[in-house]
Amino acid sequence: MPETMRCLVKHHAGPGLELTERPVPEPGPLEVRIRVTKAGICGTDRHIWEWDDWAASRIPVGIVTGHEFVGVIDKLGSAVTNYKVGQRVSAEGHTTAGVDYNSRTGNAHIATDTKIFGIDRDGCFAQHIVVPAENVWPVHESIPDRVAAVFDPLGNAVHTVMAADVSAKTVLVSGTGIIGLMAVTVAKAAGASRIFATDINPPRLALAKKLGAIEAYDAREGDGWIEDVRRQTRGEGVDVVLEMSGAAGAFDQSFRALRNGGTAALLGLPAKPVTFDFTEHIIFKGCTVLGINGRRMFETWYQMEELLLSGRLELDEIITHEFPLSEYRAGFETMISGEGIKVVLGIG
Ligand code: ZN
Repeated sequence: MPETMRCLVKHHAGPGLELTERPVPEPGPLEVRIRVTKAGICGTDRHIWEWDDWAASRIPVGIVTGHEFVGVIDKLGSAVTNYKVGQRVSAEGHTTAGVDYNSRTGNAHIATDTKIFGIDRDGCFAQHIVVPAENVWPVHESIPDRVAAVFDPLGNAVHTVMAADVSAKTVLVSGTGIIGLMAVTVAKAAGASRIFATDINPPRLALAKKLGAIEAYDAREGDGWIEDVRRQTRGEGVDVVLEMSGAAGAFDQSFRALRNGGTAALLGLPAKPVTFDFTEHIIFKGCTVLGINGRRMFETWYQMEELLLSGRLELDEIITHEFPLSEYRAGFETMISGEGIKVVLGIG
């Protein structure tokens, strides 16, 4: 075992990351150490790379970045008995001490003391990561590494779709970025009857159609698409909105496309407070609005595994690129330029 490892560190308070050497971390009694094989570059990592206001206010300089990964356990903490060295695993990236109200009542994904790999504690853009044993998720043998490396965002999509209950329902996916595209294939696999998608990026809209959306609308072309959706849904609007864009104008548009009594599950994060007509869109409509954060521990993970094992998820055209860790700059540039959709770094 070499005593140091290569890792991507936020080395100063500004844009970029640095590939550097750090001591290989040692697991505490209730932790495991994982030799990372592949790791996904997330939108969150992009914020950290670009060092926007959010990153500057949240990310400690010196941290090892990254939170989506798959790898192989290479050392167990002294008190860990339920895993084995050599086991292929991923891990839930949110940790909690397990003592607050939500952690103790089955809702640990919204705990008040959540700490996130690559944001609050060292992450997975590294040859090794140490995680709490309770966060470990054994990876099914039939799921390839490139898919297991993106369980984190796929879990966001699964959580959003499952929270809204889409079976035999019409669904609008608002925003076809990485998680929005995943939501299209997840909603289809989960039994949505007809899926509509909207975005402002024509190639992503075309991909949404390939993945199962029956209509994909460019939201820059005015509000005509809302009428089209209503025309195709008995004049009433869709049963379910999955808001994945966080774009200020998308909230008004997508709620206008939602039928009275429908459900809207919101995952996209607006950068600033948005103006929104609560009277028309929520109160008079009598609709249900769900805030979606992270993945349910571990209900979402079981659902995600079952959806993957069903063979009905189409991820090949969403996970577009893979770069070795040494070419991390090209990886980030490919993701930021929009040339790639989901970019994975090969680490091990
Ligand atoms: Zn992520």
